[in-house]
Amino acid sequence: MSTQSVSTSAPLFETVIGLEVHVELKTETKIFCGCKTTFGSPPNTNVCPVCLGLPGALPVLNRRAVELAVKAAMALGCHINQDCKFDRKNYFYPDLPKGYQISQYDRPIGEHGHLEIEVGGERRRIGITRVHLEEDAGKSSHAADGTHTLVDYNRTGVPLIEIVSEPDIRSPEEARLYLEGIRAVMQYCDVSDCRMEEGSLRCDANISLRPFGQTAFGQKIELKNMNSFRNVQKALEFEVERQTAMLQRGEAVEQETRRFDEATQTTVLMRTKEEAHDYRYFPDPDLVPLAIDDAWLGQLRAELPELPATKRRRYVEELGLPPYDAGVLTSDPALAHYFEAVVAAGADAKQASNWVMGDLLAYLNNRGRSVADAPLAPEHLAALIGEVARDTISSKQAREVFQISCETGTDPQTVIRERGMAQISDADALLPVIDQVIAENPKSVSDYLGGKQKAIGALVGQVMKATQGKANPGMVNRLIAERIAAASES
Ligand SMILES: [Zn+2]
Repeated sequence: MSTQSVSTSAPLFETVIGLEVHVELKTETKIFCGCKTTFGSPPNTNVCPVCLGLPGALPVLNRRAVELAVKAAMALGCHINQDCKFDRKNYFYPDLPKGYQISQYDRPIGEHGHLEIEVGGERRRIGITRVHLEEDAGKSSHAADGTHTLVDYNRTGVPLIEIVSEPDIRSPEEARLYLEGIRAVMQYCDVSDCRMEEGSLRCDANISLRPFGQTAFGQKIELKNMNSFRNVQKALEFEVERQTAMLQRGEAVEQETRRFDEATQTTVLMRTKEEAHDYRYFPDPDLVPLAIDDAWLGQLRAELPELPATKRRRYVEELGLPPYDAGVLTSDPALAHYFEAVVAAGADAKQASNWVMGDLLAYLNNRGRSVADAPLAPEHLAALIGEVARDTISSKQAREVFQISCETGTDPQTVIRERGMAQISDADALLPVIDQVIAENPKSVSDYLGGKQKAIGALVGQVMKATQGKANPGMVNRLIAERIAAASES
């Protein structure tokens, strides 16, 4: 340790993080048998001899699983290995009845990809080492009193992809942003519903620290059991602190696997290096190598949608949105789709963005609802924005109309009409009222003529009162000034 002051808040060590993300693919049936993949079925009802690993049962590859895996890998910029194969990863655990998991070892379906994230306004490119296709294991539930464990094999054989990043991530915050980015890409490609609470997106992390400037990696710790994006960031933040303290004390960090403990918000030891597995991979003799021909690959590439990074750029360059807006709107394909529909219905892009990110998201978040259940159709939001642009109602009234429409399901224009909320923006209708107010308030008029700009406010207030607040205030202000000016000149 140097003799420099340690009171500075700048980090003493560089953080190096790599993530392994498991994503369950959205297929109807499992990867090597015809059993359903439905989440939440009664235990051990979606099972057959193949996924139970009974002797003599043979796997048959699900074409759809391959298609979704290829799409996901392509969307992450990976090179697709058109000739790949499946390997057995051997280990014993009760939730793995065959005694091995069918996975991909040295010939994964995709390699050398990347994902771009934006951290504090700066773009960072996180390398993706590989994307491979494999089968999920079952689920063990350990009894609280430690007397027994129950195993549910419904999940056994559900298709998964594992996305392994390069150790390019430099902070817990970047790790969360990367995960959010992966989820967005998977949702855009419609390959997974990415529900972390149902386990269809899971994440393990490797984290090590090293002195700034050192190229060799420090000893890495593997983190497991982080069941939300927030917990991933929390677990990593805890590890940065724990390892920093160890290194400062001159202690060596040992290779360990730790898990996040939600109750204490800390990481706890699961196993040390001595207990590490040797998986003895070898090609699965029950499955022929997988060949993906050019036509198939071309068809899958053509099916890829506009991806979040491209969309983000387009929102900034073509629609003129601030990068922040573009980031929020493209974070979820359903949100981007809604926003685009509002713009397509004629709304100004920035106004549409303000409404979607503001009132709409607030309304949905308060009720725990998703954009798919938005209470207002995009064309109705566009119509509401149009009424404000035409000065029919003020922006304050528009927010009230929005709430009423959301609660009642009545479209905004009907709400405005039925409640008589339309502003009077017709000069012919306003002038008689204005002239009367001017005639009845000579003091305010002379104050205004004497240079008291504020005196006009009292006159505007009188007109608003006379019209029950329906007059367009901006227009009233302008007309009063014009009328007084005309009168004083004559
Ligand atoms: Zn089965």
